[in-house]
Amino acid sequence: MDLVPGVLRGETVPIARLLSCAEAADDASRPALARIFEHTGKAHVVGITGVPGSGKSTLTAVLAEEFANSGRKVGIIAVDPSSPFSGGSILGDRIRMADIAMNPNVFIRSMATRGAMGGLSRGCLDAVDILDAAGFDIILIETVGVGQDEIEIVQAAHTVIVASAPGLGDEIQAIKAGILEIADIHIVTKCDRSDSNRTILELKGMLKMGDLTKFVEGWEPKVIGTSSLRREGFEELAATIDRHRSYLETSGEIVKRRRKISETRMLKIAESLVRKRFYEERLGSISELCGQMERKKIAPDAAARQLLARINGE
Ligand code: GDP
Repeated sequence: MDLVPGVLRGETVPIARLLSCAEAADDASRPALARIFEHTGKAHVVGITGVPGSGKSTLTAVLAEEFANSGRKVGIIAVDPSSPFSGGSILGDRIRMADIAMNPNVFIRSMATRGAMGGLSRGCLDAVDILDAAGFDIILIETVGVGQDEIEIVQAAHTVIVASAPGLGDEIQAIKAGILEIADIHIVTKCDRSDSNRTILELKGMLKMGDLTKFVEGWEPKVIGTSSLRREGFEELAATIDRHRSYLETSGEIVKRRRKISETRMLKIAESLVRKRFYEERLGSISELCGQMERKKIAPDAAARQLLARINGE
C-alpha cells in the first residue's frame, strides 16, 4: 500500500506505519521516504535534552499541550527509552499522557529501540521528515541527553533546549553532561521547589563566565524557569521558542543550521553505508589485513587505506 498520499494528508494510520518502517531502518521504505523528503522544510524542530531526572518528559508533554491549545499541530518524538510517552501518567497523575495523546493536535511517537548501526538517529531524523511532511508545525524531539548519538539528534533541531533541575546534587548537571553550550534556551525545571532560584542564579552565572554567547551570534541563550506541576512558565517558553524561530529566519542563521543538518545527515548515512559494505562484502579482507597487522607486516594506517581501496575496487 502506498503510504505517501495519506501521510501528506496528515492521516494518523499511514503516518504511524511509515514511522514504524523508518524506525526499523527498513530499506523498503527508502523510496517512500525519498518522496516525503521534498515536502519537508516547513516545520520548526525543537530538540529537548537534559540529564535523566531533569524533568524533560514532563516538560515536553506540557509544552506540547501549550502549543496544541493555541491551535498548532505538534509532533513529539521521544528517543528516551525511559520516557513515559508510551501512555503512563507523570507527576502523580496530574499529567496524563493518554489525555495528551488524545488531543487532535498532538501526535506522540516513542522510538525506544536501537536499530542497526546508526539506526536510531537515522530513524529519528526520518521520523522528523514524516511529521514535517504530514503538516506538523512544531516537532519536539526529546532525548536522553547522554551520549554522542543523542547530542547529534538534538543538534539536528532548529532550537535546542537544555533542561536542568534543582536538587539533583550536582547543581548544573548540563556542564557535566557536556551539553551546556549547545542550548539556545535553558530551562530550570521544577520551579515550584524552593531551591530552584539558586539553580537559576548558578546557571546564569555559569553562562556569563563561560561567555557561551559566542557560540550563537546574535542570540543570547535564555534562561527560563518552569514548573510542570503548576504549569507555570510555559507561555513564556512557547513565546521564546517562537522568538528564536523568528530570529533564525531574520538573521539568516536558519540557512546555516539547515546546511549543518544536511551535512550531518548525509555524512552519517554515508558512514553507515560504508561500514555496512565493509562487513557485508569485505569480511575476508578485514580478517586478512588484521592478520597482517598482528604479524606487524602492515601498519594500521596503511591497512585502513588498503581496505578502502579494495572497497572502491582499486
Ligand atoms: P526526565 O527523566 O528528564 O524525562 O524527567 P521526568 O519528566 O521523568 O521527571 C523526573 C521526576 O521529576 C519525576 O519524578 C517527576 O514527577 C518530577 N518532576 C517533573 N517535573 C516536575 C515539576 O515541575 N515539579 C516537581 N516538583 N517535580 C517534577
